[in-house]
Amino acid sequence: MTKEAFQAKIQEICRRYEPGPVRLLDILREVQASFGWISDDAIDEIARTLRMPRVEVESTASFYAFLSCRPVGRVAIRLCDDIIDRMHGMERIQRVFEGELGIRLGETTPDGNITLTRTACIGMSDQAPAALVNDVVVTRLSTDLARTIVAELRSHLDPTRLVKQVGDGNNAHELVNAMVENNIRLRGPVIFAPFSPGDALPKALAMTPVEVIRHVKTARLRGRGGAGFPTGMKWEFTRNAPGERRFLICNADEGEPGTFKDRVILTECPDLLFEGMTVGGYAIGAKEGILYLRGEYAYLRRFLEAVLEERRRNGLLGKGILGYPDFDFDIRIQMGAGAYICGEETALISSCEGLRGDPKNRPPFPAQKGYLGCPTAVNNVETLCCVARIIQEGAGWFAQQGSDGSSGTKLLSVSGDCKRPGVYEVPFGTSLARVLEMVGAEGVQAVQVGGASGHLVGPADFSRHICFDDLSTGGSVMVFSAERDLLEVVEAFQEFFTDESCGYCTPCRAGNPVMLEYVRRIRSGKATRREVDTLRTLAGTVKQASRCGLGQTSPNALLDLFEKFPQVVESRLQAVTRDVLPSFDLETALAEATRVVGRPSVHSSNR
Ligand code: SF4
Repeated sequence: MTKEAFQAKIQEICRRYEPGPVRLLDILREVQASFGWISDDAIDEIARTLRMPRVEVESTASFYAFLSCRPVGRVAIRLCDDIIDRMHGMERIQRVFEGELGIRLGETTPDGNITLTRTACIGMSDQAPAALVNDVVVTRLSTDLARTIVAELRSHLDPTRLVKQVGDGNNAHELVNAMVENNIRLRGPVIFAPFSPGDALPKALAMTPVEVIRHVKTARLRGRGGAGFPTGMKWEFTRNAPGERRFLICNADEGEPGTFKDRVILTECPDLLFEGMTVGGYAIGAKEGILYLRGEYAYLRRFLEAVLEERRRNGLLGKGILGYPDFDFDIRIQMGAGAYICGEETALISSCEGLRGDPKNRPPFPAQKGYLGCPTAVNNVETLCCVARIIQEGAGWFAQQGSDGSSGTKLLSVSGDCKRPGVYEVPFGTSLARVLEMVGAEGVQAVQVGGASGHLVGPADFSRHICFDDLSTGGSVMVFSAERDLLEVVEAFQEFFTDESCGYCTPCRAGNPVMLEYVRRIRSGKATRREVDTLRTLAGTVKQASRCGLGQTSPNALLDLFEKFPQVVESRLQAVTRDVLPSFDLETALAEATRVVGRPSVHSSNR
């Protein structure tokens, strides 16, 4: 391609997104899709076209895992690397991919066609081990399937042809065409009951926006993302904040390891979600809504765009919705690009603005000053679905479900050592023991409730209840049998937080890798009690001094391990019997000096 043609193509991509700088993430995604990577020349041209500093373009381009500022293969195989996939044999499958491709993880085949890499949880823990091949999801990987995938890609380089059998429900829709399975194991009355487009909206529009908010308050709806903030109150703050424009953003960036229930909602209940978003827009006085869809779920994008288009055709979105001349509202989909931190609402707003996914300082809160500096309500997928159902069935009906302080139902994504992994819609107040019984989990040693940032609980806690005031969870429930090494589980979580830290503040950026190092030492039997004490102190500091929720929750599982499973750590500790720590390896320490001087040290046992 000539330089002129290259520049013209970049300019054409930039023109497609208005206003340019705010849509930088979309532009970068499209440049990557067109050229395979984002070169220095591309960054120069984007900066010139959008009239923005080059450093800002580069800063965003280099932040997201799914964007690459160096050449990569035409096909990227991203192996899902989390504890559940490891438990299902991902390391063995990785070795097969490496052997068949003749490259190591992180490398590209010599012909420049295929890159092999790993990525954080892709939301398929119920059908692990899984991987993304460009945007195509492959699940239930085996060593044979890995060999077949490589052979096929070598022949046609078309990931879409890897899908031989489609999953259930809308996974079989021609615009989805995915081998993903829904695995809905228990249907409750809120999310998985039947719903038709328009079942809720006319009832909402018959009320004033203030009455809709009062309705949501009466239902005692709390955010399903984990924090449990009352939705009606959030909407009231947003509605009452001064400003000409308001926004409603749906956070569909479920990146918490072990969570996949939003994937199922997006596949099977998009109208329930979009109707909830539209009701929310009406309540807070917003004309614009954004669905922030995680990059891992790009395979659902065309389907969701088609649902939005259908709603526009039926007068459920757009100008003068359902004939109400004063109510305009539309929704655009903002794709993410592989960054767990963007699940944090202020980082998500940064990402929607075309920036790195850095969290923002609070206050001001998004309700006062959010997207583009305007009052913004950020709500979880499940929360917005609850809104539509509340309007359809009534606030009293909803408030009667669940338990005191936690009305309604909760979707759980269950994975790990159980017979029936999948999505369960349970009433709030259900005991963890009941959940374990439903999913067919036996001989359970521990359960991680709430994903990597949640809590590790043992049998003494199984009688506790899933609700905001007891065992609170955004939805992830990972089950570990007695055969599992809980230090391996905690190590995987620390690796995750080390990778996903945005790097803004020191306690999280520097603390997580150090904690990881200590955990590895304990696991390999090279740590002393004194080092464990140091690790405990460090974990407390990271928890207290980190700037946002990622750092503040990153030591949770480790601290739970110390408190609830002390024997797991105790059994690995070494006594200090020499003058040096057990983790100190003299030969490793001398290796570099030995290489430089060309002879063994006098201290070496190899002389
Ligand atoms: Fe970034 Fe971690 Fe600090 Fe949050 S706690 S701002 S993720 S470095």
